[in-house]
Amino acid sequence: NASIPSLLNTGAPTVSFEFMPPRSERAEAVLWNSVRRLEQLRPTFVSVTYGAGGSTRDRTVRITGRIEQETTLRTVAHLTCVGSSVAQLRSVVGAYAAVGIRNVLALRGDPPGGPSSPWEAHPEGLDHADRLVALVRSLGDFTVGVAAFPDKHPESASLDDDVDTLIRKADAGAAFAITQMVTDVDAYLRLRDRLSRRGCRMPVIPGLLPVTAPGQLQRLTELNGQPLAADVMRRIAEAGDDVDAVRREGIAICTEHSERLLREGAPGLHFMTMNKSTATLEVFATLRELGLV
Ligand code: FAD
Repeated sequence: NASIPSLLNTGAPTVSFEFMPPRSERAEAVLWNSVRRLEQLRPTFVSVTYGAGGSTRDRTVRITGRIEQETTLRTVAHLTCVGSSVAQLRSVVGAYAAVGIRNVLALRGDPPGGPSSPWEAHPEGLDHADRLVALVRSLGDFTVGVAAFPDKHPESASLDDDVDTLIRKADAGAAFAITQMVTDVDAYLRLRDRLSRRGCRMPVIPGLLPVTAPGQLQRLTELNGQPLAADVMRRIAEAGDDVDAVRREGIAICTEHSERLLREGAPGLHFMTMNKSTATLEVFATLRELGLV
């Protein structure tokens, strides 16, 4: 069973899908339907997010473990420092290991008041993701990924600060990074090139989201604490409240960005699925027709 870093270096782009722990039985049925449909594309890995403030810890462990054990998929479990002592973080990593999970995306998490409120670490916890990378690596044979921010993390003074942060995370043992949703391909390329000029070879996988609903980008802007690319905002806004038009435009934008990213040598594509599959399948089908995946 090849590790994620070795798969990132085969020359072929990786394809991965991100899911969220479902909130109800009905939502869980939707998730499993998507997992089964997307499994057929034989992705490199799938990942499951960890709710804000660690709120979904048990559900994230249960769902990621079930995907790992009951499907052919390789899983990456997200983990954040928010609201947890080091002892609690160790115990979550232990719970991941117990269900066979060997890949962890190590994150700091947003402050409980949202991305624009000040960050405060748990008094017995960790203040930044680089320390979580080191902790997870010290607890066993884990492959650890981290977050990257082509549009700059809202708390960083400059993109160079973010590059320093990524280098610190790579030095702590991170094997790969995944970015927040890319809406400006040039911003992704700038981050990647600055990192490589500094001699850091850690692959940075761009994150993509096929927008399928009016209002989705506004919510994301609030969640990210950063404005998204103006032309993407404009194209989605022009579709107004027409759900079909938003979906068509969202899929078109995601496909254009994916194509350009792969032609520019991105190591893979990470699709945030919102636990649905149809839009991602449509983007993937076009990329396959183009011979890119
Ligand atoms: P860090 O790397 O700690 O960076 C946070 C800020 O501190 C940055 O400004 C950085 O430059 C600075 N910094 C970093 N290290 C140091 C240091 N040693 N000294 C001084 N400053 C430093 N959130 C969730 O709650 N659950 C999820 O499942 C989740 N999944 C995500 C997946 C992806 C792909 C991405 C991109 C983000 C995800 N997030 C998730 C959001 C993420 O937790 C937040 O964006 C958070 O604000 C930053 O996390 P980080 O791991 O990059 O933090």
